[in-house]
Amino acid sequence: MEIGILALQGSVSEHHMTFRRCGVATRDVRLPKDLNGINGLVMPGGESTTLRKLLKNSGLWNKLKKGIIPILGTCAGAVLLGNCDDDTFGIVDINILRNAYGRQIDSFESEIALKTDEFDGVSKFPGVFIRAPQIQNTFGKCKAIAHLENEIVGVKHGKHMALTFHPELTDSNLLHEKWISGIK
Ligand code: GLN
Repeated sequence: MEIGILALQGSVSEHHMTFRRCGVATRDVRLPKDLNGINGLVMPGGESTTLRKLLKNSGLWNKLKKGIIPILGTCAGAVLLGNCDDDTFGIVDINILRNAYGRQIDSFESEIALKTDEFDGVSKFPGVFIRAPQIQNTFGKCKAIAHLENEIVGVKHGKHMALTFHPELTDSNLLHEKWISGIK
């Protein structure tokens, strides 16, 4: 198994480190040819407007939009997986609002509640929210796996996973392992 980390912008090295802790090989993805042979791709957080431009310029946009490669999208990555006012892949059945909690200064950490039946009884995860987007609703094949109070902050849709927080900025491998177990 080898996982690609989209290395155009954002928290790239932290995702590499998390998979290293899980014993999973990773590579940087910058061009369409880098997708050959990978089992899944992480789209890290950053700035979705910038990521969109870089993805289109690199030729990756049209390949990933097909939804065939399993994708873990965190924060800005989750925005591009879902549906919002801007151009996105629309391959995860969520409507998502950018910067819903305010500006960078309004970033926060808060414990989130995991769906225990999805995580072998584990119920808590440290949520790191950085100028985070908000999932407004889910539809179709999408399943909620994490909540912050009444809000959905993590979903899976087939082999894709969208998280509005940053699991790569914690010491826990749990969310990465969960996604990996779904694509094996
Ligand atoms: N605010 C960013 C956006 O809308 C996302 C922030 C992040 O990825 N941490 O693209």
